[in-house]
Amino acid sequence: MIVLDSHCDTPSQIHRLRNLAVDNDHAQVDFPKLARGGVDAAFFALYVPAAMPVENAADYARLLLAEVRDAVDANSGIASIATSPAEVEACKSSGKFAVCIGLENGSPIRDYDILGGFFRDGVRYVTLCHSKDNQICDSCAQGNTWHGLSPFGKEMVREMNRLGMMIDVSHASDEAFYDVLRCSAAPVIATHSCCRALASHPRNLTDDMIRAIAGAGGVVQINFFPVFLDDGFAEILSASGLQEKGEPVEADFIADPSDPARRAAWYSVLDELADLPRPSYRRIADHIDHAVRVAGIDHVGLGSDFDGIEVTPDGMEDAGCFGRIFDELKLRGYSDGDIAKIAGGNFLRVWDSVLSL
Ligand SMILES: [Zn+2]
Repeated sequence: MIVLDSHCDTPSQIHRLRNLAVDNDHAQVDFPKLARGGVDAAFFALYVPAAMPVENAADYARLLLAEVRDAVDANSGIASIATSPAEVEACKSSGKFAVCIGLENGSPIRDYDILGGFFRDGVRYVTLCHSKDNQICDSCAQGNTWHGLSPFGKEMVREMNRLGMMIDVSHASDEAFYDVLRCSAAPVIATHSCCRALASHPRNLTDDMIRAIAGAGGVVQINFFPVFLDDGFAEILSASGLQEKGEPVEADFIADPSDPARRAAWYSVLDELADLPRPSYRRIADHIDHAVRVAGIDHVGLGSDFDGIEVTPDGMEDAGCFGRIFDELKLRGYSDGDIAKIAGGNFLRVWDSVLSL
């Protein structure tokens, strides 16, 4: 089986001087951890903050992409960029990690030339928006600009279909979600989204949305963020005040990640977060179980959000723990064939169908 994680925010961490070759402290993804967890392929998402001025957004995404390419080149003996399911399989056969590229937040895409440029450069999905409405669609965190996709967003969905670029509906508002399902000729994906029936966060998908993705032949990739997995933890985190406390400390660290004092201050916030009573990694399997019941075994996978989440489930501290999910699914009665579908088979099937539409 091929194990594929459809969403890691590792490019932002490379930008903060993460060395993928070594087993980093206070990190969720690097090559030693991927090896420990048995992860064969990971989508590295070029995350463009919603607050970034639009005139800087495309250049920033291109800078992150160049840094990812440099990091892969520096590890060319063990890793390669993969731009298709066939290339992922070729990496697996040659014993290399497959690094795949997504763009999280379509804010840099102002026209088809920019979109086509990212596709030519190897970007294979676009998460249409992030935490604010943008020129493409509304975000689930705002949602009052277009009430769905913008006119440009509708055209862009069709152009993505034509290119063979996957459309990621994670972060989209419910109205935008249904607009995308109506407009897209190809299956759509949610690269890092949980089930709203189990945790009420608006980032999560309702059962009807999960059924709609499955009905169109797509896949829902379950997110590992404890806030999306469990309402109880969302309350604990909110009451702790640690997110507010951490914001300026993280901003300081991002401004100069080479400063050991700033790095140490950020790591101490991460330690405080890890000391909160976190839900077990088994909660991830609860969301998988639910999504499988609603969508069927062919439409569920894994998108950890590692390196984009500052706190993880207990027992799923980094990519090195990935295999525990499959052990848990086995205990719950999943066959090896079912587990292979969830591990990566479903996502690769959808990717193939989007490329060959
Ligand atoms: Zn995200």
